[in-house]
Amino acid sequence: MIALDKKVEWQQPLVTIPEQNWDVVIIGAGPAGAIAAVHLAAADHRVLLLDKEHFPREKICGDGLLPDAMRCLDYAGIGKRVRQCGHLMHTATIVKLPSSTIDVPGTYLTLKRCLLDTMAAQRAVEAGAVFAHGRVDRIFVRADESVSFAIRGNNKKYTARIGIIATGANVRLLKEMGWFVPRKPSAVALRGYVRSSFDLDHLVVAYVKSLAPGYGWIFPLGNREYNIGCGLSLRGAPNSSKNLRKFFDDFINEFPLARELMQSGTIIRPLRAAALRSDFEGVYPFVKGPLITVGETIGTTLPFLSEGTGKAMETGQLAAEIVHMALISGDITKLKEYPERLTNDFKPRYQGYRTAESWIAKPWLSDFVFGRIQKSKYLGEVLSGIMAETYNPRELFSVNGIVKSFWK
Ligand SMILES: Cc1cc2nc3c(=O)[nH]c(=O)nc-3n(C[C@H](O)[C@H](O)[C@H](O)COP(=O)(O)OP(=O)(O)OC[C@H]3O[C@@H](n4cnc5c(N)ncnc54)[C@H](O)[C@@H]3O)c2cc1C
Repeated sequence: MIALDKKVEWQQPLVTIPEQNWDVVIIGAGPAGAIAAVHLAAADHRVLLLDKEHFPREKICGDGLLPDAMRCLDYAGIGKRVRQCGHLMHTATIVKLPSSTIDVPGTYLTLKRCLLDTMAAQRAVEAGAVFAHGRVDRIFVRADESVSFAIRGNNKKYTARIGIIATGANVRLLKEMGWFVPRKPSAVALRGYVRSSFDLDHLVVAYVKSLAPGYGWIFPLGNREYNIGCGLSLRGAPNSSKNLRKFFDDFINEFPLARELMQSGTIIRPLRAAALRSDFEGVYPFVKGPLITVGETIGTTLPFLSEGTGKAMETGQLAAEIVHMALISGDITKLKEYPERLTNDFKPRYQGYRTAESWIAKPWLSDFVFGRIQKSKYLGEVLSGIMAETYNPRELFSVNGIVKSFWK
């Protein structure tokens, strides 16, 4: 069990690490970077994992984990530990105000990200990676196609054969290096932690008409603690100029459950906001020479569900597989397989979620879909499968899907 009240010793100050040539440097120890580090270190590569924050660090997130995340954590050897520390639930309730409610059965886990990310980084260290504190200000590709990087406040010269960039929705580093970045993120979201006498043991996601195209959530964390927040899509949104804090206040005022939770509780961590990059609205290209990008840096968060932790880990896992092949063959052109795999295996899975997000953003259409789901057992099953990624959202969010629901 990780002690969270003190700085973890296994994240070393960079000054203690001698100058040397690494096989891989990974910049950013969120889920994408840490999972890549686990697999590469386990394959006996010399891995330096860097993060600008001292761990355990807070990450603004809803703290919800869906089955894709659990599969990656199992594969990395920490699924059991995460299940022991997390809060397991079997229902997600989707509310469409004023009065529609759908209970979606499934396997849902919550675990505060400061704990989850610490566990993943700790697993990377167990596998043999060196984890250090350092903010990377610049990455250089050298004449021999290896990588060197400038770390704030440290003049030592570190180099690596391959660099993995996993800095999350924060794309400043690559933007300054001239990589293409879309003008704005896909969404912004805000969350706070509340302790309350309120008793709730299922995830709640609420769509409130005045908040479209956004939503609010209440995610129980166990021990009467709740993660409460709201997100606002910026993609073609008519109200994208809306103030996020005002949006949160509207959510509390218009959703009785949220109001009750806030009235009966105290905020134990203040509301904080962060950006999301979904549907591959991140940096481009995914690979440049010896540099490869993973997770939210390339926009891996799923539209509609805003689920990004599992998807970040999936790309970290895929990148590790391809970087391993490049390292053992000594041929960095093998990294080119990564964009191909993203285009063929990942991107097609996002299309249905994008359609679902655009349907839900239209109040008349979402009212209609909610009405159909409430009447059709089959569509209820489909919705459950959409959360678990066992059904393509097109099964529900398409004319065919809706027509099918009339006889299934
Ligand atoms: C409010 C909110 C709620 C969300 N809710 C959920 C949810 O419930 N479930 C879910 O699955 N997803 C959720 N997401 C999305 C999820 O948080 C992200 O998709 C996920 O964190 C992406 O992981 P990552 O590893 O790519 O990046 P991150 O987790 O952001 O990690 C990036 C790391 O890089 C480090 N870093 C950045 N720049 C540098 C630098 N220059 N040098 C060194 N280190 C650097 C950062 O300190 C950070 O530790 C939510 C997002 C938000 C904003």
